[in-house]
Amino acid sequence: ARPTRSPEGATNADLFARAQAAIPGGVNSPVRAFRSVGGTPRFLVSARGPYVTDAEGREYVDLVAGWGPAILGHAHPEVIGAVQDAAARGLSFGASTPVETELAELIEARVAPVEKLRLVSTGTEATMSAIRLARGFTGRDLLVKFAGHYHGHSDGLLAEAGSGLATFALPGSAGVPADVAALTLVVPYNDLDALAAVFAEHGDRIAAVITEAAAANMGVVPPLPGFNRALVELAHAHGALVISDEVLTGFRVSKAGWWGIEAETDAAFTPDLVTFGKVVGGGMPVAALGGRAEIMERLAPLGPVYQAGTLSGNPVAVAAGVTTLRLADDAVYAKLDEVSALLQREVSAALSAEGVAHGVQVAGNLFSFLFGEAGAGGARDYAGVLAQESWRYAPFFHAMLDAGVSLPPSVFEAWFVTAAHDDTATSRILDALPAAARAAASA
Ligand code: PMP
Repeated sequence: ARPTRSPEGATNADLFARAQAAIPGGVNSPVRAFRSVGGTPRFLVSARGPYVTDAEGREYVDLVAGWGPAILGHAHPEVIGAVQDAAARGLSFGASTPVETELAELIEARVAPVEKLRLVSTGTEATMSAIRLARGFTGRDLLVKFAGHYHGHSDGLLAEAGSGLATFALPGSAGVPADVAALTLVVPYNDLDALAAVFAEHGDRIAAVITEAAAANMGVVPPLPGFNRALVELAHAHGALVISDEVLTGFRVSKAGWWGIEAETDAAFTPDLVTFGKVVGGGMPVAALGGRAEIMERLAPLGPVYQAGTLSGNPVAVAAGVTTLRLADDAVYAKLDEVSALLQREVSAALSAEGVAHGVQVAGNLFSFLFGEAGAGGARDYAGVLAQESWRYAPFFHAMLDAGVSLPPSVFEAWFVTAAHDDTATSRILDALPAAARAAASA
């Protein structure tokens, strides 16, 4: 019989063994299983500021940040307070609440292309619904996505996707009907010629192009200057919409997401629909799709495109999102940029000191590293990312983990900083780097 309660003093290994008996692979999301880096996943029991603590009582400086949401650091007292207050008033009503409108208004005030917004619970739902809406609006079926971009796990979006599929080298997923997969056309990222060729051939059947505003699910690969703008022009010339997926970048890389960074340059672009997640929920299950009112008003109950959710706009979750966004002021983003720049520089210096050729990939405060000579020149697409010496990451990762620093458990993921990474936390990271770089060098 399986134990029904954790014995006191259970190790991560005990907990993982028990989890594997009850849960496929012992995890509820594949990358958590440490398959690509090996070893035993840490079972976390608490988090505060820049730190997470595992079941063995060991504390790590965290550079995963819940895969993005924790821009303020974990368990920010005001966010926790707002959640506690909301929880005390009831967990879920299945009716409208004032705070949902407030979150929509906060987002619309920051990201001009978002005139109307609907809340959902996960990034997967946001992109899935945005695509249905684009199809309903245009009356067309085909979707264009870029190789190495990840937009969640709905059927049509798993072709050559990043994140866990990159980690596990899967071209797609079993269980997606061929007829569904055939509606998604995959194009190399940052390649306008390839995109133009797809439009030349199928232009009148393409409903939308979906793109990560800046790609960060194959490691970080920023759009080339002007790429987003040119892709909007190309899509619009063919009557197709552009869905800019800011689930990961939204309100992380700037107060107005990646859109806000490019809005201040010659590359300013206006997507038709934008998807959000992660930061908009402040660590709780909130995501959103928004965009031009004329398009958004095709959603039920105003229009014929159906979309709904029992937990959509959940008051406890939205309280976390609203409070996080309210607290995310210029000083927070300045701090994120500062910590990010420090780590980029110091990791790079440590790798260089050990003779490890590498490239640093940056999009706003998001960054990742490419290992080996092939990575040193940087990557602008998925093929470029795959050309690196990815095996050097596992020993690097484990040396950091042994020294009390928790990195993303895959080379194909961005590193996430928080505004709570103070000098104590960053110096612990810097202290760990020389040994980790040595481990990468000798791999
Ligand atoms: N889009 C992007 C750009 C993402 O990074 C993610 C998640 N990492 C998703 C969509 C899917 O979000 P979720 O995991 O909340 O379904």
